[in-house]
Amino acid sequence: MPESRGLVIFPGSFDPFTLGHLDIVERAAKLFERVEVAIGVNESKKGLLPADARKRLISTAVRHMENVSVATFEGLVSKYASARGAVALIRGLRQPGDFEYEARMAHANGRLAGGLDTVFVAASPEFALISSTVVRDIYRWGGDVSAFVPPAVHEELEKLRAA
Ligand code: ADP
Repeated sequence: MPESRGLVIFPGSFDPFTLGHLDIVERAAKLFERVEVAIGVNESKKGLLPADARKRLISTAVRHMENVSVATFEGLVSKYASARGAVALIRGLRQPGDFEYEARMAHANGRLAGGLDTVFVAASPEFALISSTVVRDIYRWGGDVSAFVPPAVHEELEKLRAA
C-alpha cells in the first residue's frame, strides 16, 4: 500500500485564506487521512499577500488539525497532485454557478493525471457568501474583514495596512 494513501490536495489561491476555506479543510480532514492545502503560486499575478505569508497564515489557521499540512506549488495542479501521490483533489462549491467551471476543471485534471478524482464539498450556509475577492475588496476600501477570515489573517492584514 503506498505511503501516501488517503492524501487529498485542496488547491487554491487562498489570497487571503477565509473562514470558508477553513470550513472546507476542517470537513475534509474528518473525511480523509491527510489533507494538504496547496497554494498555487503565480509570480506574474499581483495579489494581496505573497505566497510565503499565505503559507504561514494558513499553517497557523490549521494547526489544530494534525493531519493537515500546507505547501506551495507552481504550474499544473494535476502534475503536482500526481507527483505527491494524491488520491483526489478537494474543491469547495458555494453556489450552482461554481459547478460549471469546476466540472470542466475536474474533467481536465482527471484526463491529465490518469483518472485523478475531484471531490466537491458543499459550502456551509454560514460561509457560502465569503470569497477571497470580496475580502480583498472590503480590505482595500478600508473595511473590517474580521468576520470573514481567521484571526491570524485579520491581524496580518491590519499590520499591512498600518505599514
Ligand atoms: P481558486 O483561485 O483556485 O478558485 P480560491 O482560493 O478562490 O482559489 O478557492 C479555493 C477553493 O476554495 C475553491 O474550490 C473554492 O470554490 C473554495 N472556496 C472558496 N471560498 C469558499 C467558501 N466560502 N466556502 C466553501 N468553499 C470555498
